[in-house]
Amino acid sequence: MKRVALIAIAAIAAWLLPYGLGGYAIHVADVAIIFAILAIGLGLTMGVAGQINLAQVAFFGVGAYTVAILTTEAGFGFWTASVLAVLTAVVFGVLVGIPALRMQSHYLGIVTLGLALAFTNWVTNAHIAGRAEGISDIPVPPMFGIDLSSGYLFYYVELIVFAIALAFALLVTRSPLGRRLRAMRDDDLAAGALGAEIPLLRMTAFVLSGLYGGLAGILYAGLIRFVAPESFNIANMFLLLAMVIIGGRSSILGCVVGAIALALVREALLDASGYAQLGYGLVVVLVVVFAPKGLAGLPGQLRALLRRRTGGSRAQLGAFRPYDPAPASAEEVALDVREVTKRFKGLVALDKVSLTVPTGQIRGIVGPNGSGKTTLFNVISGFYDPTEGSVVLAGREATGMAPYRLSLRGVARTFQNLRLFEDLSVRENLLLALDRTRTTWIWRYAVLPWKVLGYERALHRRTAELLERFGLAEVADAEPRSLPYGIQRRIELARAMAMSPALLLLDEPAAGLNGEEVRQLADIVRSIRDSGVTVIIIEHNMGLVMSLCDQVTVLSSGRVIADGPPAEVAVHPDVVAAYLGDSMAAPTEETAEAAVEEATR
Ligand code: ADP
Ligand code: MG
Repeated sequence: MKRVALIAIAAIAAWLLPYGLGGYAIHVADVAIIFAILAIGLGLTMGVAGQINLAQVAFFGVGAYTVAILTTEAGFGFWTASVLAVLTAVVFGVLVGIPALRMQSHYLGIVTLGLALAFTNWVTNAHIAGRAEGISDIPVPPMFGIDLSSGYLFYYVELIVFAIALAFALLVTRSPLGRRLRAMRDDDLAAGALGAEIPLLRMTAFVLSGLYGGLAGILYAGLIRFVAPESFNIANMFLLLAMVIIGGRSSILGCVVGAIALALVREALLDASGYAQLGYGLVVVLVVVFAPKGLAGLPGQLRALLRRRTGGSRAQLGAFRPYDPAPASAEEVALDVREVTKRFKGLVALDKVSLTVPTGQIRGIVGPNGSGKTTLFNVISGFYDPTEGSVVLAGREATGMAPYRLSLRGVARTFQNLRLFEDLSVRENLLLALDRTRTTWIWRYAVLPWKVLGYERALHRRTAELLERFGLAEVADAEPRSLPYGIQRRIELARAMAMSPALLLLDEPAAGLNGEEVRQLADIVRSIRDSGVTVIIIEHNMGLVMSLCDQVTVLSSGRVIADGPPAEVAVHPDVVAAYLGDSMAAPTEETAEAAVEEATR
């Protein structure tokens, strides 16, 4: 309700604004809105999706120049030219996005910067783009007899485009697509394991960038009706970057505030533009150092400060509510690893490893540090391609498939060193995993946005259920890093189960847990198995392995040295020998017997 009231007030204020402004001031407002649309596009790629994009100003230029060329040279009407211009900018976005498939961070920054420079060079030299003089005489956009050469009336066209652009960006960021983009920014490997198609998502980010750049470009062409290379140069790219960083790049509203604020400051400092550049640079540095999330992040920073003073969170784990037992799938073998070898340069991490895991089993994988256990998980879950050998999932070939594909085929995993998305709340971590759609699903954003909202609501309902089942309701809106380690481990387990897997891979899930937490973990894993899921667990805690696992496979130096029921394996001479000299306590006959006793109690 409060939100609706705020939106209404903002809309009315924006609608009435021209009544209080003179002719020049309204022109400044018109330019500020164009910058705001550009900043939203940059915020989506750079802030939300984490793709360094220094070509935003070129998308802007492509939009404006396409309108200019098509209307003045090719005789197109303004609006037809505009549609083509937005499409051209989107295609340009795809082209600029291609390098992002191969490189990230500063490399991507340099490449996109190079492409932006190439664009200004091209328009400065190409005859068709009017060279350095640019193109004037762009026609006034026609609109039912309304004279859009008036800055006042054009303001309203811009306002409507801006409102739609803003609403769309907010829809994207607060729904499955935006969550995947943010997860990709945080940790693209973990996002892939949860079903995010990283290459397509990166392209999507650049498509959005091209779309917003193109939109801003056509508004610019309609407003100024003149384009020249210097409007799309690196100085303006820098200004845009400053807007997004100062406003808060991961917040769309922050980007808008930053853009409007700096557009006004730029206007005020027009006579001292050399010093202004220096000023922006200084402010950007200060923001990066003291408020990395920009203006939009300040309230959160203050709250965190207060929380620290009042002594942090004392979050409590709730009880786990067991799953209903269900028969496992009819397929008898959940996983068949056949003679898998994985070599890293000279090092053989896995050496002809074979293992067969029947459906509905809890299989333990043990072995000294560095024996290749995690590497085996990485091969099964698609993080590494095996050098030789094959992986068969429920009777179907799965060797070398991408992690997101395997995740859709029912493989879920946790990581030895927790990989929760730190910038997402606990709830969002689960929402992300519950969303099992392919990236192609996102055409609904363009055509049926209300379906997206409906799907989002359904995800929220199922997340609430899952939070409650895993005893996480109390910490649902916390950031994972603010929580005790035991709770973080529980969250990762819940996140893996959110994918409704057929095969669950747990990499040292008891590491760092206290005795009571380990007991709870054993109960949870048993319940997961009883619900029909096959579980493979890498574990150093021998008591847990002995009591929990139906069968244990022992790895040493990348080779399987023993495989069988826990009590037999524990006393196998090769196993005892492999553990001698390792920091971990070797299992003896006594501990094995004690554990078996505990298990059968
Ligand atoms: P474990 O999980 O059993 O402790 P790992 O599977 O993590 O062991 O590692 C097995 C061996 O493979 C180690 O010697 C490790 O250094 C090596 N290794 C693992 N991943 C890589 C990698 N990405 N590049 C090079 N070597 C690796
Ligand atoms: Mg490991």
